[in-house]
Amino acid sequence: MSTDYDVDLFVIGAGSGGVRAARIAAGYGAKVMVAEEYRIGGTCVIRGCVPKKLMVYASRFADAFADSEGFGWTLGSVSFDWGKLVAAKEKEISRLSAIYRTNLEKAGVTLVESRALVEGPHQVRLLAHDRTVSARVILIATGAAPFLGPEVPGRDLAITSNEIFDLPEQPKRILIVGGGYIAVEFAALLRRLGSDVTVALRGDNILRGFDEDVRCCLRDALTGSGIAFKFSDMPRGFEKKGKAIEVTLANGERFAVDQVMLATGRHPNTHGLGLETIGVRLDGVGAVCVDPYSQSSVPSIYAVGDVTNRVALTPVAIREGHAFADTVFGGKPVAVDHAGIPTAVFATPELGTVGLTEAEARLKHAIVDVFKAQFRPLKATLSGSSEKVFMKIVVDGETDRVLGVHIVGDDAGEMAQLLGIAVKLGATKAAFDATVAVHPTSAEELVTLHTRTARYEQVQLDPGEAAALMDEERTP
Ligand code: FAD
Repeated sequence: MSTDYDVDLFVIGAGSGGVRAARIAAGYGAKVMVAEEYRIGGTCVIRGCVPKKLMVYASRFADAFADSEGFGWTLGSVSFDWGKLVAAKEKEISRLSAIYRTNLEKAGVTLVESRALVEGPHQVRLLAHDRTVSARVILIATGAAPFLGPEVPGRDLAITSNEIFDLPEQPKRILIVGGGYIAVEFAALLRRLGSDVTVALRGDNILRGFDEDVRCCLRDALTGSGIAFKFSDMPRGFEKKGKAIEVTLANGERFAVDQVMLATGRHPNTHGLGLETIGVRLDGVGAVCVDPYSQSSVPSIYAVGDVTNRVALTPVAIREGHAFADTVFGGKPVAVDHAGIPTAVFATPELGTVGLTEAEARLKHAIVDVFKAQFRPLKATLSGSSEKVFMKIVVDGETDRVLGVHIVGDDAGEMAQLLGIAVKLGATKAAFDATVAVHPTSAEELVTLHTRTARYEQVQLDPGEAAALMDEERTP
């Protein structure tokens, strides 16, 4: 396609969004080059969703072993080997990374292993090769990186989610700082693998921005599993004491841990990329400001995925990458719909959610009906486990449309995926009720929840409070 430029498309970052965009654009006949400075596959494959979920699976054997006795099993002694898990995980992500590479090559994309910087509206500098490539279009798909929070003494003793996956030893005692989904997921999985886990966070509850009921439900379950939460209490400093790290909290409390993990959010990866110099508009946290077609303020430069700080999730980055390629190289303008994205928090118990929280619904709709249930799952009757399942359906009282569904319990993420279709289709509560149950399952409660728990006939939240809730993002 290209005549005036070396390539039609230069993609910076071979993660979820960049790889999808490169492959689809190449499929439309574009000459595409991709630069990656770390490992092909990006955060999701290398140090995000995939290795995290593998660790979650590992952690859940603890429950399976404990539950099995009630079903007649007698187990010998069981033990867990962190090193074996890390090695198995590494093998799998290397396999996936190789598949990403092969798929790019098969699509005819040229892959360059180098940090890339933007030198002009059509120029990309490849640092490892000391050369500049010209491109008709540049796509910024550089993702995000852990944000370390306030500078406190000894902060460099702490690790982030980038390092936790490859620790040579499982920390016996760990402090996790933060209350977002990454903090919560690692707290839950490490606790089940046997670590003593303390979580310190600024807020008075975990998972800001999620529905209040599921936040409380998950917090209580995690507290019950032995995680020590320090709410409204951030670390004041860290000090090395032998092999341990002594933590001092703002309230003056001191205790020793083996590791501190900062999970205090993630910021878009634009630092030093050269974007401001050529007039690409960034927002206050450094995210590339884009229009619905992912185009930045410089017409030849687009951005997708976490670097745009829209919804920082893998399937969203992939969709944005695909839509970009359709729009710019396929002649089919596509704007990604960011409403009603189902999502999960892979703690144990798991949290699955789609659509509006109760607070959001009450702010936007005149009449809101809420249906809630909390029950002991069938499995717990024999296992003796104290686990509970929580389900909540938020309905527009005027149209009967289901606005949101929020679940805590086994397979909540799987349920959220399917509920996402119903909510996207605009299903009514009557349609849920008309659906025959699959028995015996936990999910059947979703179609048998006939008794309304509450009806709210006007906005009952203080508008400032509600607006603040809505602003809060579900990002890590
Ligand atoms: P990335 O996948 O981060 O890719 C960006 C790539 O660009 C990286 O490979 C980086 O090395 C490269 N790069 C950066 N700068 C340059 C440069 N100058 N030159 C060359 N290369 C560069 N999402 C979910 O949907 N579900 C989950 O369960 C989930 N779990 C997560 C768990 C953790 C611990 C983390 C950190 C994230 C998780 N996410 C999850 C979020 C998900 O990983 C991201 O939303 C997704 O990876 C974003 O894709 P991306 O293409 O925008 O960026």
